Amino acid sequence: MTTAIGVVMTEHIVAGRLEGQHLTGEPLRFPADPDELDALSAIPGSELVELLAAHIAALAANSAIPVDAIGVAVPGIVRSGVVEDSPNLSQIKGMRLASDLTKVLAARGIAAPVYLANSADAIAAGVAATRGQLDRLTRVWTIGNGIGYGRWPYIDGVWEGGHVTVSLDPRERFCGCGGLGHLEGIMGYRAMRLRFLDLEPEEVFAQARQGDTRCREFVDLWHRALAAATASFIHLAGPGRFYFTGHNVGFLDLPTLRAHLESMVKMSPLQSFSLEVLEEDDETALIGAGVSALRALTW
Ligand SMILES: [Zn+2]
Repeated sequence: MTTAIGVVMTEHIVAGRLEGQHLTGEPLRFPADPDELDALSAIPGSELVELLAAHIAALAANSAIPVDAIGVAVPGIVRSGVVEDSPNLSQIKGMRLASDLTKVLAARGIAAPVYLANSADAIAAGVAATRGQLDRLTRVWTIGNGIGYGRWPYIDGVWEGGHVTVSLDPRERFCGCGGLGHLEGIMGYRAMRLRFLDLEPEEVFAQARQGDTRCREFVDLWHRALAAATASFIHLAGPGRFYFTGHNVGFLDLPTLRAHLESMVKMSPLQSFSLEVLEEDDETALIGAGVSALRALTW
């Protein structure tokens, strides 16, 4: 049986050990307090590498069975072990995270190859693995501080779905990357705080339910933006199943999203899409990171 360690570094770090495609034991978490948000943004990149290595080493020491592969999932554009950009974890931009981590782990006596994945791709891989559908196209939107788009199976490319342009209005300027009209600039948590300086995003959604016109219009825009981006991916790669997850997936109303999507996707061969909300959990991405690393061994 193959053994992998999966690690996910987003707003926090979680790491776990996989036997086959199954998590064994309790995952490790940093910071330990789940209510402590934004704990990683002030930690320099080199210290994050040490932190990742410490968690991996602790899991590797849990068993005498050597680890075959280590998968690390991070948000942003990740190619060939390099973090090309990561707007919501900016200190890792440009880092050769796979080789940096490999070196630090080697000093701790751990020689397994490190595979770096985008965190949304890892969720898609985790969904595909846990539902026994690794042979099928699986797409995931992650709704959090940033907006992530993930797909399984992995294919080379950028796939920054959160930064697709969904508005031509030049006032749509709240995306963390600085680009105008981006999906994340409407849906991202940070972007919503910049737009509503007087209300927290939770209050915006609550006041929309109570009938406040400004908030209702925004919540409708929020759903239309996600529908527009999803419709674009349906028009490019076809229908199929889309999953929605992330820290703020509770803002999502599937019937509203579906109604907007149906107004945007009119060609009958493309209308067989399905939409499903996944409860946010750390395990799915962690399993996906490990499974992606094991798959990468065979490429
Ligand atoms: Zn952007």
